Parts: sequence; structure tokens; C-alpha cells
Amino acid sequence: MCRHLAYLGAPVPLRALLYDPPHSLVRQSWAPRDMRAGGTINADGFGVGWYPAAPDPASGLPPGSIPGTATPREDGEPLRYRRGTPIWGDTALPQLAAVTTSGAVLAAVRSATVGMPVSETAAAPFAEGRWLFSHNGVVPGWPDPLVPLAAGLPVRDLLTLDAPTDSALLWALVRHRLRTGTDPADAVGQTVTEVAKAAPGARLNLLLTDGRSVVATAVGHALSVRDTGDAVLLASEPLDDDPGWRAVPDGQLVVATPAGVRTRALAGA
Ligand code: GLN
Repeated sequence: MCRHLAYLGAPVPLRALLYDPPHSLVRQSWAPRDMRAGGTINADGFGVGWYPAAPDPASGLPPGSIPGTATPREDGEPLRYRRGTPIWGDTALPQLAAVTTSGAVLAAVRSATVGMPVSETAAAPFAEGRWLFSHNGVVPGWPDPLVPLAAGLPVRDLLTLDAPTDSALLWALVRHRLRTGTDPADAVGQTVTEVAKAAPGARLNLLLTDGRSVVATAVGHALSVRDTGDAVLLASEPLDDDPGWRAVPDGQLVVATPAGVRTRALAGA
């Protein structure tokens, strides 16, 4: 199954999450430790979404940017780089990750479920406005168990799904709730509960962020959190041997900000 992570805290270069740690996301793409029998490697695409760091008041540029080259975004929306190929073979990402600094990042590497297409648009993060979303897992029997839930979505959403995959439909279900003003933790929690009921045995590790907080679930797959008081990192697998990593118990929903982590049980998961 895919591996994913989310970071909130002081701005760091993307390479500090993707490449530098001993068990970085790039390493997890080819040597994951805990796939729970859901595939072996994560070779079917990847994506990184990041929120530009707040501009430095003196220069007006994001911290760490090279004068004359930065393109600051002031609308609060993230930037995204996705590909439908293995992250380890991407020639642009190492440089991009070295020069790009952000205090809010969501990244994923994908192991496509058998029968689902391999394409850039099927790779997380899925995005709209300020939101970034990722799913690690599978809906058994896809698509049949989710037909009744899909029928509750606007036809336009179904016609414009990122890809014909379980993950893209889960994003459409969460997004529909967000668009109607549902609290993000409730949008994720309600979606997991209804999908778990419709498709027993579904593995539903979700990540959702707006760059200020992260909502995550652990349902059927590994998830760990490291909270240092001024930064928080959630990842399918710990990125290093830091004793601060804690495994999130199965069936839990996490709401994390740099100031703290709250956990609650998910109904019906
Ligand atoms: N089932 C999803 C897909 O194929 C997610 C895969 C995963 O977690 N490996 O895109």
C-alpha cells in the first residue's frame, strides 16, 4: 500500500522529509518496512504538495528563497508536483526538494491496487483550494460497495474524478463534505465510518490538511506521529529512530497542529 506523510512546523527544505532521513519517504518507496501484505514497493507514482512559507518581511520572499527566482503565492493555496512514475527515478525532484522550503507539506508514494490505473492523476495528493488529501489503503470489491455512496455525489463530481480509483472517490466524498462547511475532522470521520460500513475490511488511512492542521486516520494500516511541541510529523512509517515516534492505534482519528495532537476513536471503524 502507499506510504504518505504530513508535516507542519518551522519551514524546512522538502529534502528534509523526502530524502535526508534514514527511512525517508523516497527510501520507503523501495524499501518499506510495514506494508501489511498490501503490495511490496511503491513504484506507481508519487506526489508532493506544499504551502509556500510566509514571506520574509524584509525581502517579501519566502524564507530560503533565491532572490529573483521565487514565485511567492499569497492566496494560501498549496503547490503540487505529481508524477505517475517511481519517485526514485525522478530527475527534477532532488533539485526541487533542495531549494523548496515549506512549513506545511503532504507527500505520498503510490503502490497501485491491482486493477487500478497507473497515472499521474491517480497519485496523491489530491487537491482543491487550500486542501490536500491522500489515501493509503484499499476498498475491497471496488467499485461495487461504494456505488450507493457515489450516487449521493453531484454527477459533475463523478465526471471529473481525478482517476477511476477508490482513493479518488474517497477524496470526492470528503471534499463534498468540506464544500458544505463540515468541520475537517468530521468530514474525514464521517467518510471513514460510512465507507467502513459499506465495505467491511476496507483499509482507510487518510491524510487531509489545509496547511494549518492535519486530520489523519489509522484504519488497517500503519501510522506514526512525532510531536516535538513546535512541529508535528505524521507518517506511514517513522522516518528515523527518534524515540519520539508513537504508533497510532488502529481505529483512531488524529487531529494534529504544531501545538499538539488530539486522538479520538472512529465510530464503526
Ligand atoms: N487503492 C489506492 C490506489 O490504488 C491506494 C493504494 C495504496 O494505498 N497502495 O490508488
